[in-house]
Amino acid sequence: MSGATPHDPDCIFCKIVAGQIPSRKVYEDEELFAFHDIAPWAPVHFLIIPKAHIGSMMSVGPEHERLLGRMMALAPRLAMEQGCNPYPAGGFRLVVNTGAEAGQEVHHLHLHVIGGPRPWLKG
Ligand code: ADP
Repeated sequence: MSGATPHDPDCIFCKIVAGQIPSRKVYEDEELFAFHDIAPWAPVHFLIIPKAHIGSMMSVGPEHERLLGRMMALAPRLAMEQGCNPYPAGGFRLVVNTGAEAGQEVHHLHLHVIGGPRPWLKG
Protein backbone atom coordinates (compact mmCIF):
# COMPACT_ATOMS: atom_id res chain seq x y z
CA MET A 1 0.00 0.00 0.00
CA SER A 2 1.12 3.55 -0.67
CA GLY A 3 2.86 5.27 2.20
CA ALA A 4 0.46 8.16 1.70
CA THR A 5 -2.51 6.01 2.75
CA PRO A 6 -3.09 6.01 6.51
CA HIS A 7 -2.65 2.42 7.64
CA ASP A 8 -2.99 0.89 11.10
CA PRO A 9 -0.75 -2.20 11.32
CA ASP A 10 -2.97 -3.66 14.05
CA CYS A 11 -6.23 -3.23 12.10
CA ILE A 12 -7.76 -6.36 10.58
CA PHE A 13 -9.39 -4.42 7.73
CA CYS A 14 -6.13 -2.61 6.92
CA LYS A 15 -4.56 -6.06 6.70
CA ILE A 16 -7.33 -7.19 4.33
CA VAL A 17 -6.72 -4.13 2.12
CA ALA A 18 -2.98 -4.88 2.13
CA GLY A 19 -3.61 -8.53 1.20
CA GLN A 20 -2.10 -9.77 4.47
CA ILE A 21 -5.39 -11.44 5.42
CA PRO A 22 -7.43 -13.15 2.68
CA SER A 23 -10.88 -11.90 1.74
CA ARG A 24 -13.47 -12.54 -0.94
CA LYS A 25 -13.17 -9.32 -2.90
CA VAL A 26 -16.24 -7.70 -4.40
CA TYR A 27 -14.71 -4.46 -5.67
CA GLU A 28 -11.56 -2.37 -5.51
CA ASP A 29 -10.42 1.02 -6.73
CA GLU A 30 -7.80 3.51 -5.57
CA GLU A 31 -9.75 4.58 -2.50
CA LEU A 32 -12.29 1.87 -1.73
CA PHE A 33 -12.34 -1.87 -1.12
CA ALA A 34 -15.36 -4.16 -0.81
CA PHE A 35 -15.45 -7.78 0.34
CA HIS A 36 -17.92 -10.40 1.53
CA ASP A 37 -18.63 -10.48 5.25
CA ILE A 38 -17.12 -13.55 6.87
CA ALA A 39 -20.28 -14.13 8.95
CA PRO A 40 -23.16 -13.06 6.69
CA TRP A 41 -26.60 -12.63 8.19
CA ALA A 42 -28.37 -12.39 4.84
CA PRO A 43 -27.95 -13.99 1.40
CA VAL A 44 -26.05 -10.86 0.30
CA HIS A 45 -23.77 -9.30 2.92
CA PHE A 46 -20.63 -7.45 2.02
CA LEU A 47 -18.68 -4.50 3.40
CA ILE A 48 -17.47 -1.36 1.63
CA ILE A 49 -14.49 0.26 3.34
CA PRO A 50 -12.11 3.11 2.64
CA LYS A 51 -8.58 1.83 2.05
CA ALA A 52 -7.31 4.54 4.35
CA HIS A 53 -7.71 3.78 8.04
CA ILE A 54 -10.65 5.78 9.42
CA GLY A 55 -11.68 4.38 12.80
CA SER A 56 -15.39 5.13 12.69
CA MET A 57 -17.98 7.72 11.72
CA MET A 58 -16.73 9.67 14.74
CA SER A 59 -13.43 10.26 12.92
CA VAL A 60 -15.11 11.62 9.82
CA GLY A 61 -14.56 15.27 8.94
CA PRO A 62 -15.34 17.56 6.02
CA GLU A 63 -12.30 16.19 4.20
CA HIS A 64 -14.05 12.80 4.00
CA GLU A 65 -17.34 13.96 2.50
CA ARG A 66 -16.44 12.99 -1.06
CA LEU A 67 -15.14 9.58 0.05
CA LEU A 68 -18.29 8.81 2.04
CA GLY A 69 -20.38 9.90 -0.90
CA ARG A 70 -18.49 7.48 -3.09
CA MET A 71 -19.09 4.63 -0.61
CA MET A 72 -22.83 5.32 -0.55
CA ALA A 73 -23.07 5.75 -4.32
CA LEU A 74 -21.21 2.48 -4.93
CA ALA A 75 -23.51 0.44 -2.69
CA PRO A 76 -26.56 0.14 -5.01
CA ARG A 77 -24.46 -0.86 -8.00
CA LEU A 78 -22.59 -3.56 -6.08
CA ALA A 79 -25.78 -4.71 -4.31
CA MET A 80 -27.41 -5.44 -7.67
CA GLU A 81 -24.26 -7.11 -9.00
CA GLN A 82 -24.13 -9.33 -5.90
CA GLY A 83 -27.69 -10.56 -6.29
CA CYS A 84 -29.97 -8.26 -4.32
CA ASN A 85 -33.41 -8.16 -5.89
CA PRO A 86 -34.38 -5.01 -7.82
CA TYR A 87 -35.93 -2.01 -6.11
CA PRO A 88 -38.63 -1.49 -4.94
CA ALA A 89 -39.82 -5.05 -4.33
CA GLY A 90 -36.28 -6.11 -3.46
CA GLY A 91 -33.64 -3.73 -2.17
CA PHE A 92 -30.98 -3.78 0.50
CA ARG A 93 -30.05 -2.30 3.86
CA LEU A 94 -27.04 -0.04 4.52
CA VAL A 95 -25.67 -0.07 8.09
CA VAL A 96 -22.74 1.71 9.73
CA ASN A 97 -22.38 0.64 13.36
CA THR A 98 -20.58 3.35 15.30
CA GLY A 99 -19.22 2.61 18.77
CA ALA A 100 -19.51 -0.39 21.07
CA GLU A 101 -23.08 0.27 22.14
CA ALA A 102 -24.13 0.26 18.49
CA GLY A 103 -22.34 -3.04 17.90
CA GLN A 104 -19.17 -1.81 16.21
CA GLU A 105 -16.55 -4.51 16.66
CA VAL A 106 -14.02 -3.63 13.97
CA HIS A 107 -12.71 -0.10 14.34
CA HIS A 108 -12.14 0.65 10.67
CA LEU A 109 -15.10 2.45 9.10
CA HIS A 110 -17.26 0.03 7.10
CA LEU A 111 -20.59 0.15 5.35
CA HIS A 112 -22.56 -3.10 5.64
CA VAL A 113 -24.59 -3.84 2.50
CA ILE A 114 -27.20 -6.46 3.37
CA GLY A 115 -29.97 -7.93 1.25
CA GLY A 116 -31.32 -10.78 -0.77
CA PRO A 117 -34.45 -12.87 -0.36
CA ARG A 118 -35.91 -12.80 3.15
CA PRO A 119 -36.15 -13.88 5.94
CA TRP A 120 -33.13 -12.06 7.30
CA LEU A 121 -34.42 -8.67 8.43
CA LYS A 122 -33.53 -7.79 12.04
CA GLY A 123 -33.84 -4.55 13.92
P1 ADP B 1 -20.75 -6.49 14.08
O1 ADP B 1 -19.86 -7.69 14.26
O2 ADP B 1 -21.63 -6.23 15.27
O3 ADP B 1 -21.48 -6.45 12.77
P2 ADP B 1 -19.18 -4.36 13.00
O4 ADP B 1 -20.23 -3.39 12.51
O5 ADP B 1 -17.91 -3.79 13.52
O6 ADP B 1 -19.74 -5.27 14.10
O7 ADP B 1 -18.91 -5.32 11.78
C1 ADP B 1 -17.75 -6.02 11.61
C2 ADP B 1 -18.05 -7.04 10.53
O8 ADP B 1 -16.83 -7.51 10.00
C3 ADP B 1 -18.82 -8.24 11.05
O9 ADP B 1 -20.02 -8.39 10.30
C4 ADP B 1 -17.85 -9.40 10.84
O10 ADP B 1 -18.50 -10.59 10.47
C5 ADP B 1 -16.97 -8.87 9.73
N1 ADP B 1 -15.63 -9.43 9.70
C6 ADP B 1 -14.76 -9.55 10.72
N2 ADP B 1 -13.61 -10.10 10.29
C7 ADP B 1 -13.75 -10.33 8.96
C8 ADP B 1 -12.92 -10.88 7.95
N3 ADP B 1 -11.68 -11.31 8.22
N4 ADP B 1 -13.40 -10.95 6.69
C9 ADP B 1 -14.64 -10.52 6.40
N5 ADP B 1 -15.47 -9.98 7.31
C10 ADP B 1 -15.04 -9.89 8.58
